Amino acid sequence: MYQGRGRCACAGITYGKIVHIKSAADSASDNSACQCALSVEEELSRFEQALEVAKAEIDELIEKAQSDIGAEQAEIFEIHRMMLDDPDICDNISDRIKQGGISADAATLAVGAEQAAEFAQLDDDYMKERAADIKDITSRIARIIRGEQSITLIESSVIIADDLQPSQTVALDRNKILGFVLRHGTQNSHASILARTMNIPLIINANLPSTLDADGGKAAAADEAVCDLSGHSIAVNAVTGDYYIDPDTETLEQIKLAKDKFDQERMRQLGLCGLPGVSKQGHRVLTFANIGQVDDVEQVLENDGEGIGLFRSEFLYLGRSEPPSEEEQFKAYAKVASTMNGKTVIIRTLDIGADKKVDYFNLPAEENPAMGMRALRICLTQPEIFKTQLRAIYRAAARGNIAMMFPMVTRLKEVEQAKAICAEVETELKQEGAEYAVPKIGIMIETPAAAILSGELAKHVDFFSVGTNDLTQYTTACDRQNQNLGDFYDPHHEAVLELLRQIAANAHAAGIPAGICGELAADPELTDLFIEMGFDELSVSPGAILALRERIRNSEAACHNELQNPRVSLEAVKLKRH
Ligand code: PEP
Ligand code: MG
Repeated sequence: MYQGRGRCACAGITYGKIVHIKSAADSASDNSACQCALSVEEELSRFEQALEVAKAEIDELIEKAQSDIGAEQAEIFEIHRMMLDDPDICDNISDRIKQGGISADAATLAVGAEQAAEFAQLDDDYMKERAADIKDITSRIARIIRGEQSITLIESSVIIADDLQPSQTVALDRNKILGFVLRHGTQNSHASILARTMNIPLIINANLPSTLDADGGKAAAADEAVCDLSGHSIAVNAVTGDYYIDPDTETLEQIKLAKDKFDQERMRQLGLCGLPGVSKQGHRVLTFANIGQVDDVEQVLENDGEGIGLFRSEFLYLGRSEPPSEEEQFKAYAKVASTMNGKTVIIRTLDIGADKKVDYFNLPAEENPAMGMRALRICLTQPEIFKTQLRAIYRAAARGNIAMMFPMVTRLKEVEQAKAICAEVETELKQEGAEYAVPKIGIMIETPAAAILSGELAKHVDFFSVGTNDLTQYTTACDRQNQNLGDFYDPHHEAVLELLRQIAANAHAAGIPAGICGELAADPELTDLFIEMGFDELSVSPGAILALRERIRNSEAACHNELQNPRVSLEAVKLKRH
């Protein structure tokens, strides 16, 4: 048995078989010509076998997409499937291998890159978009040739990886993930946030082994690779941070007991369902949920979320080769709103950028993407992308209680520009005679600039929601993705807390509610302080709602900043339908 440790990023206890995900095909090796140890015939046969496996994988994905995700995603996989039969692509790869001196995977990636570049130059938009599909299928074939683990899970498993990208995490079948143990990662990386949203036990910064032997094994040094752990069994205690590879019977029994205790505590918390979050001194705090995908709503209802305080809409854009269409987004937003049945659903408009990357917006590589072209900046510079999303939100707002908010605001001018695009969208929908409603418009306060200007900004919007993950990053000049910064990235930093106090005070002075949707909202040490500051709504991962509500109900803290004469309420937003 190998015993390891890491930091808990989502509490829970689990055990099962390991699926070890290696790094993505494209980054795994050089795709230039290489000295191959295998003959041309052997390389050809590796390619042909991988091609068949890729076809079977895509057939399975088409079936899955048709039943769970939707027809549009299925159509994309169907295009991928057709491409795998396209002689232009396959013959080119075979010819390249036959020329010799190149491995099957390198030849596949090289042809993929060349053909994608040709497609990207075409005038026809539809054909242009196929560039990403070609890259996608050739990466898939290359991954299979290299024997790298498919990200499509066959049975319920604990995922082990160096780190996961948000796009990889959204591609996993959540019903088959028992837990995650990652070598790297930070509490506020989007992979961690996604795991918490899905309520899946997660350990980060785990000292994974370089070798396993009869005595247990040896932890990999920083520059050493982790040995292949696929197929081994693991027990994970993501409450203490301990994990055990190939646990002995006694350890497994202890883990099962700990899991029973954890589950009992959870049952006790479920008793709080239906009770409001009101402190002992009478301050009401709405306990909302953060979600990333439509399916997360089930967790929100199970945990009695009073609304959705943050729908990270950009996750709809990840892990695919083209952006979701207006119709696809409309269906997703309308489904969330109708499932929430009149409760507030706050959709955060596109927040792509930094660690949430997509190829199809053709954004240039950046040295410092966290401070680069991201979020509202993309929407204001490429308004056609923004408009597609806004149209979907306005149309869905006619089906439920939808509000929306803009991320990464730094000044009033940006809010005015965004609202002007909203007004254009409204005019267009009205002219078309479409069914729509005008949602409440709020902003995220997640830059120090917006926090400092919050008094002025509050006069122009309907609500604030503080993104403490980014607010901490930008206030303390600490990259939230950098695991080496340790306590320097400190959301309890005096400056962050002072900004939070000012934001709530400025919101209330203008008669609008203020919430927090960053990870800090769930911090048990700060619930009293947030009540004192007067926050009206705290939005946390679904699994954290009831514990938060319990702390609010037990809190003796006195609120010094009650929202008097509110101009807007998040509890009962009146819909103006058109
Ligand atoms: C935040 O920055 O606190 C936030 C809620 O947004 P995200 O974590 O998605 O950047
Ligand atoms: Mg943010």
